[in-house]
Amino acid sequence: MEMCHRGGGGEAPDSELQLEYFSSNSLHLVLLPTEQCNFRCTYCYETFENKKMAPPVVAGIKALIDHRSAELDLLEVGWFGGEPMLAMDIIADISRHAILRSAERGFRFAASTTTNGYFLDAETFQRCLESRILGYQISLDGAEELHDKSRKLASGAGTFRRIWSNLQQMKTVQAPFTVLLRLHYTLENYKELARFTTTVREEFGDDKRFGILFKAVEKLGGPNDASITKLSGEQRNEIERHLIEHAGETRTQGIPRKYVCYAGKGNSLVIRSTGGIAKCTVALQSDFNDIGRLRPDGYIDADQVKFRRWMAPVLEGRWQDAQCPVESVGRAARLDRELALKTS
Ligand code: SF4
Repeated sequence: MEMCHRGGGGEAPDSELQLEYFSSNSLHLVLLPTEQCNFRCTYCYETFENKKMAPPVVAGIKALIDHRSAELDLLEVGWFGGEPMLAMDIIADISRHAILRSAERGFRFAASTTTNGYFLDAETFQRCLESRILGYQISLDGAEELHDKSRKLASGAGTFRRIWSNLQQMKTVQAPFTVLLRLHYTLENYKELARFTTTVREEFGDDKRFGILFKAVEKLGGPNDASITKLSGEQRNEIERHLIEHAGETRTQGIPRKYVCYAGKGNSLVIRSTGGIAKCTVALQSDFNDIGRLRPDGYIDADQVKFRRWMAPVLEGRWQDAQCPVESVGRAARLDRELALKTS
């Protein structure tokens, strides 16, 4: 399972795949067990207002799994935040429930996480494996000095050393997990980042469970957006070619040309720590992404108009929009509002 790959894709997926986006046999949940974070990355867009998931929301997720489980072949959970490892007890609790139901009802349960990696010491990693989290997406912004400039703790202290040592210790564990190191590049840092890929190669290049994804730092609505240089498609391609060349033998992953964001799929939901239902994991402050609420009985009160807007790019075959529907959905919501104002 992938997390927000804004910026890739744009081509029509195969027709069987298009049907899968609406199949009731599979359910993709992005769960935010907390919206708090121990980091304050300079480009972050989150506001950290919401705290840990409350018991009625946890109960609602378990009930949702229960009443969907009869028809499911696959339940995919992506743990997201905030920093999900700050709510490890909630992850363990919901995972235990999902594992139990998957054994009873015979559906496959797969989990992954997007984490900053800071808390992934031996003990927490073991707990994650017990929760069947087998996919890890962990971001680095370069070697220690470069990384610590942008990926800091809330106190301002650097985070590189601890993440790196956690990664080294993960490598010693015999288990079938994968780690995607998401390396963030900018016009300013990419040459230094290229040198860092040599260190990554030396440390993890011999372990096929570890791979690299290069991602441009984007303007995502955070307070420091003005200081981020927007890169053209051509610049991105050129920089990524340069970076991939330096990464050598290390497994590098590109964003597929036929990528469709989970936000555009009918069977994918984001459940926030508040019980709010969203589609996109980035536009968390936008009304058009606030599509409903999960009830403690596991049923969802959804605004069907808002929900349909997110699926429109796939249903209408607008594949460029489908790779990241956020802008087209925002536009549609604005137009609807203007129209309503004119006719009122
Ligand atoms: S719709 Fe949201 S989650 Fe999907 S690619 Fe765009 S910004 Fe990322």
